[in-house]
Amino acid sequence: MSKGISGLFKGTRGFLHALAEDVFDRFMPNGDKNIDFSRLPGSTGIQVKKRLTDKQMTFLTNEYGVEFAQVYERGPGKNGRGGKYTIYSGTVNSVTIPVNRNTVLINHTHPGGTASPSEKDLKLMALIKQAGSPQRTSAIIPIGKETIKFTSKGKKR
Ligand SMILES: [Zn+2]
Repeated sequence: MSKGISGLFKGTRGFLHALAEDVFDRFMPNGDKNIDFSRLPGSTGIQVKKRLTDKQMTFLTNEYGVEFAQVYERGPGKNGRGGKYTIYSGTVNSVTIPVNRNTVLINHTHPGGTASPSEKDLKLMALIKQAGSPQRTSAIIPIGKETIKFTSKGKKR
């Protein structure tokens, strides 16, 4: 009897822990593993254990119909190692991220499939540089098209 209760208690704790982190794995019928959230990250962001793949970023965008951005916050190690990955969500055509000298915008999605950076995207890259971050190139994942790279000057070829 007490064994059963103990087991149940453990299971419940595990579930609550996952909720507290707001992140969980979502296994798809085709075998893909996606990351999902119990609430949208918004401009507060939700930290993930490792960098999400383009496919995982695409999944989130299709699932919620808004832009998602993936940011690496540089850590104290060599070349910024030991940092953390955070996911942010916005509206159908914008997403807001915090910018400081440790900010590296890995990528963001374009739900509408626009395969070029917007004026705001270019300004953001300039702002990241201005803040003292070493980052110069970021990526856009246009839904339904191939990922592109860009700098504050525009699309990279
Ligand atoms: Zn954009």
